[in-house]
Amino acid sequence: MTEKFKEKVWLATPTMHGEELQYMTEAYQTNWMSTIGENINVIEKKMSDYVGCKYAVALASGTSALHLSIKLAGVKPGDKVFCTDMTFAATVNPVLYEGAVPVFIDSERETWNMDPASLEKAFELYPDVKVVVVADLYGTPAKYDEIKEICKKHGAVLVEDAAESLGATYKGNQSGSFGTYNVISFNGNKIITGSSGGMLLTDDEAAANKAKKWSTQSRENAPWYQHEEVGYNYRMSNVIAGVVRGQIPYLDEHIARKKEIYLRYKEGFRDLPITLNPYVENVMEPNFWLSCALIDKEYMCKQERGASTATYVKENGKSCPTEILEALAEHNAEGRPIWKPMHMQPIYKDNSFITASDTGAVNEDVFTRGLCLPSDIKMTEEEQDTVIEIVRSCFNV
Ligand SMILES: *Cc1c(COP(=O)(O)O)cnc(C)c1O
Repeated sequence: MTEKFKEKVWLATPTMHGEELQYMTEAYQTNWMSTIGENINVIEKKMSDYVGCKYAVALASGTSALHLSIKLAGVKPGDKVFCTDMTFAATVNPVLYEGAVPVFIDSERETWNMDPASLEKAFELYPDVKVVVVADLYGTPAKYDEIKEICKKHGAVLVEDAAESLGATYKGNQSGSFGTYNVISFNGNKIITGSSGGMLLTDDEAAANKAKKWSTQSRENAPWYQHEEVGYNYRMSNVIAGVVRGQIPYLDEHIARKKEIYLRYKEGFRDLPITLNPYVENVMEPNFWLSCALIDKEYMCKQERGASTATYVKENGKSCPTEILEALAEHNAEGRPIWKPMHMQPIYKDNSFITASDTGAVNEDVFTRGLCLPSDIKMTEEEQDTVIEIVRSCFNV
């Protein structure tokens, strides 16, 4: 029996380096305790350079950046929007803010992201759809050559939700550069953080200016408070921007450490019926934000998930996400289930779900057999080896 961790081993928590405090303090000392200031200007420049988009608008969250992207893409009430199905709810919520209707698209098995064949099938069923929202799950880019080609063919605008994948690349291009509008997040659990915050990236100057205006209550250029359209309070704080500014120099270091964690799990599970969240080598390089395990079908014990509870039947040589998550929790380590697909959520019970798979939805299968492992970059090698032992013990080997 492995011992319980004295200090909790986390899924993914902020990792600070010192400069963050310096830039926050600078904001304080110069009194730019506002949504205007040097930190904001600097991180907009740095991130647009890094990602390779001409314009960046710093916002309060990834979710607000997604909301403004949906508006820029021209989504109107009642419109259908094709969305990644297996993702965090934040990818899709902004579609509802605009009164539009998400249609969920299944994933493929090579990256767990939106399946181009399912997207093509969706356009056959709904040829008038004009906006596609694609998330890059757990830091792995989707198949953008195929997805962009399909969007182009059908005259649809692509929004990339790169909240989890900052620093990942696909065919040499940075995640956050594939859509007409792209979103990154600086939420506390992301690859770098501002404690909160997000950014909208685009090559379209007029769109960037519009987003900036919308995010600051849509004031018109006039000597009084003049308004022609609805506005939002979505701009990033200069204090938050200071944290982000201090983190940016460490992005590549964080990615390198995340990759070490992924590779150590891969090695540690070599003789177990487990594979990790997949990607296509030589085509893409993930940022390895979270390492996830997928249990081979033949080695799954019986697992049942109800409305709010999960149970399993212990079986020698077999296991399941529920058993492993319980074992991790008992040892004071944090795992998580895979994002429960949107088409399985009560809120979306009436929305369409499109899959090109004739052997059942890929997403339901990944949700059943997959889980997220502790991927915190401050986890030591010894701690990770213990996590691997805990997983191993679930299979009784
Ligand atoms: C975190 C996340 C978001 C939301 O970002 P916030 O900054 O928390 O609003 C959106 N989409 C995905 C896929 C995410 O993981």
